[in-house]
Amino acid sequence: MKFFSTRNKGLSASFKEVLLNGLAPDGGLYMPAKIPKMSMDFFKSQQSFEELAVNIIYPYVKEEFSLSKLTDICEDAFNFPIKIKNLNESDLILELFHGPTLAFKDFAARFLAQTMFFLQADNKKKLTILVATSGDTGAAVANSFYDIDNIDVIVLYPSNKVSGIQEKQITTLGKNITALEVAGTFDDCQRLVKKAFVDKEIISSLNLSSANSINFVRLLPQATYYAWAWKKSKINDSIIFSIPSGNFGNITGGLLANQMGLPVEMFIASLNINDAFVKFLKSGKLSEKKAIKTISNAMDVSIPSNLERIKNIFDSDLREINKKISTWSFSDSLTKKMIKNIYEEYNYLVDPHTAVGVLGLNEYRLNFKNLKKGVVLSTAHAAKFSNVVEPIIKQEIELSETVKSLLDKDKLSIKMSNEFATFKEFLLSV
Ligand SMILES: *Cc1c(COP(=O)(O)O)cnc(C)c1O
Repeated sequence: MKFFSTRNKGLSASFKEVLLNGLAPDGGLYMPAKIPKMSMDFFKSQQSFEELAVNIIYPYVKEEFSLSKLTDICEDAFNFPIKIKNLNESDLILELFHGPTLAFKDFAARFLAQTMFFLQADNKKKLTILVATSGDTGAAVANSFYDIDNIDVIVLYPSNKVSGIQEKQITTLGKNITALEVAGTFDDCQRLVKKAFVDKEIISSLNLSSANSINFVRLLPQATYYAWAWKKSKINDSIIFSIPSGNFGNITGGLLANQMGLPVEMFIASLNINDAFVKFLKSGKLSEKKAIKTISNAMDVSIPSNLERIKNIFDSDLREINKKISTWSFSDSLTKKMIKNIYEEYNYLVDPHTAVGVLGLNEYRLNFKNLKKGVVLSTAHAAKFSNVVEPIIKQEIELSETVKSLLDKDKLSIKMSNEFATFKEFLLSV
């Protein structure tokens, strides 16, 4: 399989280049040259999530991995359950948070770690992965790459702006994982990382790579769980998905599955008040403004980085995008009400991001009087956001043993200013 850059169809790259470079050299995002098509019977006949993942992903990686190597990778990467809960006849919740860091990002980060490990094994120069995080990506990447030979990870997170559990997940590992606690915002962290990638001295001294959602490889495991949800919902027809969205990596995984042949009636991009995409779908224009802090903080994104891929999939035709993606934005107070409603009506606890997803599905049903089966992607475990959820349900959330032991561990972070010169000096000294 060949890949091209969204900014230049002539710029072709291999899977290995896509994996290790992250961003195309012209600043565009990588997309596959030809998306393989699969039948409904194919999706139905897969017996397990791992089997489905192997068969969906293989066409993209077959120049690099044999089928049996890919099978090993998928078995290692997806070694935790994926569950579907019925709220009622028509509304389902796809629980993607049973991985080690309790958010859906474990799927992509673990797959990325396994594939990078195998493709890096023959490379003498150590790989250094830089990740800017608002909480969940850094946790998933740190956990997935922990103790992997020949790969170092440097996570930049904004001091005092991630939850307690997230901070412990990022800072308690040590070994090849370094946590930089930046005096500033997530935007500062992202700016430092972006600058490092274009700094001549840094890139000649370090072999840098990215694990943020600009990396196409993160989309492959994400495409798989849409297909798994469709199969498990046992319908012969198309389905609705509601996705709590920030950088739109998760929803782009779904669009990829749809391009591969998965029957999807509508994707709902469910947003908090950071609503740039709502305005984009109406006008085709993006207005740059600062991200606003909300209780669903993983979606506090001003400009979704995967929008360039979405435009590419639909040839920038706004009408076509509107036929496949609906979007609404919801306030924190509606989100809190929804957490309470779901808890009272179904005795089921959702995190703030998932609550936004349920709001999106309800809004779609109201507007289009559509009663087809709908699946809300549940992106995090409520325990990860206990500070928000516990006061709403007026009850403590039971923590798993893994989380409890994490909270007892010591934090190991290096405090850093938000100035590039300091960050650069640090990188050149490691
Ligand atoms: C990252 C994240 C999101 C947003 O996902 P995108 O792929 O950036 O759209 C939603 N919910 C949670 C819990 C997350 O960690």
